[in-house]
Amino acid sequence: MTSDSTSMPPAVSDSLTPPLSDPADVDLHPLAEADDLLVALDFDGVLAPLQDDPSLSRVLPASAEAIARIATLPNTQLALVSGRDVATLRGLADPPASAMIVGSHGAEIDLGPGQDASGTESAATASGTESAATASAPDPTEANAVTNDEEELLAAIDDHLAELTTLSDREGFDLRIERKPYSRTVHTRGMAPGLAASLREHVVSVQAEHGGIRVIEGHDITELAVSQATKGTGIRALVAEVHPTAALYLGDDITDEDAFAELAEMRPEVTGVGIKVGSAPTQAELRIADPDAVATLLTRLADERAEFTAS
Ligand SMILES: [Mg+2]
Repeated sequence: MTSDSTSMPPAVSDSLTPPLSDPADVDLHPLAEADDLLVALDFDGVLAPLQDDPSLSRVLPASAEAIARIATLPNTQLALVSGRDVATLRGLADPPASAMIVGSHGAEIDLGPGQDASGTESAATASGTESAATASAPDPTEANAVTNDEEELLAAIDDHLAELTTLSDREGFDLRIERKPYSRTVHTRGMAPGLAASLREHVVSVQAEHGGIRVIEGHDITELAVSQATKGTGIRALVAEVHPTAALYLGDDITDEDAFAELAEMRPEVTGVGIKVGSAPTQAELRIADPDAVATLLTRLADERAEFTAS
């Protein structure tokens, strides 16, 4: 570089708030030495690098090894928290058997084998329509069932998105719509910005016709959801079940901000540590770079937690 380099704007990592931390330097003592620890992790962009084709997302091997170890430690509960539906997430992430799973941005909660999700207050709250869920779901196993109102909204969304099929045929682009129990997600990753913007505009226009539909924006996705649950709802449900003294949450997307906010609200009863992955704005108190940094951090946590719980 020439002398001009002195007047160049600072590198992105210098201007971030909070600044980027080296995963080798993050103080993990409050987590490793907690009486009861909840480790809650987003999947896409955190455990798994983002992919143009979301069906190709996989947990990095080093992170898979770390969470497998974390899941076996005493007084330590692992949970995955994702916008994906639970069935898809289980297929892609192949989580340890004891892991609790929050899917569909908090609308689906699976507390794992031997756990009765429906019998808890948390599961009912997670439906987003507490009384309706209870009334329409006398069978305990149906606590996560879609209500009639939600069913009607999903049908309206499907009709609306069907119009895009005609457009994609005419314009010759690959329309990727993911169907989830509580939502439909339109993927725009890899598309020309103009096309992605006009697609998004059409997708969200359904909101003007039907109240009760929530638009969730993420990395190259626009999602239409019929449940008002958020990842914050999911964190609340996990904490109500696990009663941890400390909780870690790692997330990379806008939707993870609800989880960070929930952790902050639980202080001081729960020592919450929120870590943003990537460079997007956040209210988390710490930030690391990417899924590789996540793997380093989780490996350290597995080591330090194992040492503490064995002593
Ligand atoms: Mg993510």
